[in-house]
Amino acid sequence: MLEELRLVPHWVLRSPGGGDHDRGTMPAAVPGVQPAAAPSDASAMSREARIAGMDWAQLKAAVRECTACRLHSGRTQTVFGVGDETADWLFIGEGPGAEEDARGEPFVGQAGRLLDNMLAAIGLKRGQDVYIANIVKCRPPGNRVPEPSEAGACDAFLRRQIALMRPRLLIALGKTAASNLLSSDASIGSLRGRLHECGGLPLIVTYHPAYLLRNLIDKAKAWEDLCFARETMERLKAQAPAQP
Ligand code: URA
Repeated sequence: MLEELRLVPHWVLRSPGGGDHDRGTMPAAVPGVQPAAAPSDASAMSREARIAGMDWAQLKAAVRECTACRLHSGRTQTVFGVGDETADWLFIGEGPGAEEDARGEPFVGQAGRLLDNMLAAIGLKRGQDVYIANIVKCRPPGNRVPEPSEAGACDAFLRRQIALMRPRLLIALGKTAASNLLSSDASIGSLRGRLHECGGLPLIVTYHPAYLLRNLIDKAKAWEDLCFARETMERLKAQAPAQP
């Protein structure tokens, strides 16, 4: 019907040299009717497609050079992620803080020391079958929670990291990681203790180490989550042993 009424924009590929903006036949904007794909959507799609085809080296370079959201202007450096790129375990936090921004590595401050202890409690070690990443790769000013648009701009990078790594299990550390990975606004209390799914991979939610530093009482629950994660990993490995 919209076509009949000539309300659907007709997009014409630009000449290979580009820049020939007047050759498109998009009609004047019609109030209340959105173009099927605005130019910004089209370029966002091609950015995602490009990222989805990157190898590790290309991905690291793209993150290093990224200016897709305003967080880039305040960073000392990007914080790509750290660890074993073939790890079974992928821990995902929120975003770099001041120390991470200075050193270029996730979870190296006080919360990071607690995370290392949490890993050790279930027999894991940073870098050994473990990878650590964040929802955003640049430090939000004042350590504020990343805006949805900032998390959205970084999403393709994290998804590509996951696709290249193919971990067996994702662990969301805290509310920002859980809500972005699960597209859910539910509390950690209601999400923890059960297995979720994110992009076809199992995901477990637990408290963020920085939260645990302030709320010691919940450390017991985090310990339960870690035990649940360890049992889950054992089960996943029994179901699909590693290929020689
Ligand atoms: N908190 C996070 O969520 N990530 C870090 O890298 C450091 C602190």
